[in-house]
Amino acid sequence: DSNSTTHIENHDDKFLDGLLASGFDESRCLSRYQSHLYRKASPYKPSPYLISKLRNYEQLHKKCGPNTRSYNRTMTKIIIPSSSKTHHHNHHHYNDNVAATTCKYVVWSPANGLGNRMISIAATFLYAVLTERVLLVRFGPDMHGLFCEPFQESTWILPKNSPFWRNENVETYQSVLAKVDKGRNLTLLGQLSLPSVMFMNPQHRSDDPQSFFHCDHHQEALKKVAVLIVESDQYFVPSLFMTPSFSFDLNNMFPEKDAVFHHVGRYLFHPSNEAWGQITRFYDAYLAKADERIGFQVRVFKPSSTPHQAIMNLLLSCAIENKILPKIDTRNSASNAKNTNHTLKAVLVASLYPEYAENLRTMYLRGATITGEVIGVYQPSHEQEQKFNDNVHNIKALVDMYLLSLCDVLVTTSLSTFGYVAHGFRGLKPWLLYRLTSNGTHFPACVRDLSPEPCFHFAPQHQCNGKLKQHFSTSFPHMFQCKDYYRGVKLV
Ligand code: GDP
Repeated sequence: DSNSTTHIENHDDKFLDGLLASGFDESRCLSRYQSHLYRKASPYKPSPYLISKLRNYEQLHKKCGPNTRSYNRTMTKIIIPSSSKTHHHNHHHYNDNVAATTCKYVVWSPANGLGNRMISIAATFLYAVLTERVLLVRFGPDMHGLFCEPFQESTWILPKNSPFWRNENVETYQSVLAKVDKGRNLTLLGQLSLPSVMFMNPQHRSDDPQSFFHCDHHQEALKKVAVLIVESDQYFVPSLFMTPSFSFDLNNMFPEKDAVFHHVGRYLFHPSNEAWGQITRFYDAYLAKADERIGFQVRVFKPSSTPHQAIMNLLLSCAIENKILPKIDTRNSASNAKNTNHTLKAVLVASLYPEYAENLRTMYLRGATITGEVIGVYQPSHEQEQKFNDNVHNIKALVDMYLLSLCDVLVTTSLSTFGYVAHGFRGLKPWLLYRLTSNGTHFPACVRDLSPEPCFHFAPQHQCNGKLKQHFSTSFPHMFQCKDYYRGVKLV
């Protein structure tokens, strides 16, 4: 029998085509093995090279993760200067031999909202994989109860007793580079003695010496740093794709360049049982039976100067013009009765405000649609404002992002990282709603995005020889200027 060699149980879906490792305790993290029941099959497949890189990373994390012998040994060798007076002395500088024999770490530090955090964690994790560092995250109480542990038999949370919760007395990459001609000079940088612990924010503002992060001479120098503290709210993955020494790995890991966040995000972020309960109960009650699910993410960046009605008009014109939602039939109501099309469309609205969903619901209640389609409108929460230091609020944000990612069509707001996470998870090109900040309007109301990838807002502006470059998208294949921000680049 030719079938005798095939596997008895097909695990392809449950483990997302090998993206996820087997062997976790399912009951502690239901979403890990149930997500495939809610998500459509992904149009993208993880490459065998990506899968082997992830399995190797998991081994490294297990070996070097918190409270292992390797971790304890490394930590005792690293000394942070105790006061700023010692800042310029060299006694805390790391011995290269130590770097060669022990584990190295990248500590992710939070900035801004949950969308920003998730895209920057994904970028930092990819950087960790490429540089064989162990990713540890500074998750304070506001991040508690959101995600499952992504790595088996270990934790990614920076231990409570670690000195790396604080930035005080930690040298910054900027200050180190300021000593060597802003990082342009290769020879000087090579001779530089780097601290064992260093703080950095990989962004590429033209006046920032860190803007050479995408160059090999910088990556070579950074190898000497045992603990890198990265505080970024950005998806700096495009920088990594511009770095020559990473290109072999990245090209093999991601033959489909527009699916980096799609894979890394689904690999890392598994909603906790608490969040997963909310996601699945909402989905089962309101979205499961629909023929089509449409997700609207309405982010208002300047609520004081932007009336809800202006944004509502914009949203409606985007939806009607692109046939995402049907028009209301304004002719006599008797003609409606003839319509036999009763396709059910469920509209999921994610917003801090209740007005958009309420308006849509009222509109489709007052009049029948010209297509005969039936429209249901649902909104899981409306928090009114962005709250800080509040994990219950953050769980609601995660629930909204995840539910959006279960939709078949997405309209997200330009420049919102919250929306980036949703379409990245989904692996779908969204419609990008214009970012309105006044009582006005804009044509077109929305444009179709180029890829599901998040946009990196602070893209490199320099070549590695220091020459200014107008826009980097022109020199790299698969790299394009973002539709929603002229300075940004994204993978396509
Ligand atoms: P961005 O500012 O749009 O790039 O997205 P962030 O996620 O980084 O920050 C916005 C924060 O505001 C979110 O993390 C939430 O805390 C809150 N927020 C904004 N829009 C929504 C929404 O539609 N639903 C929920 N639950 N929270 C939201």
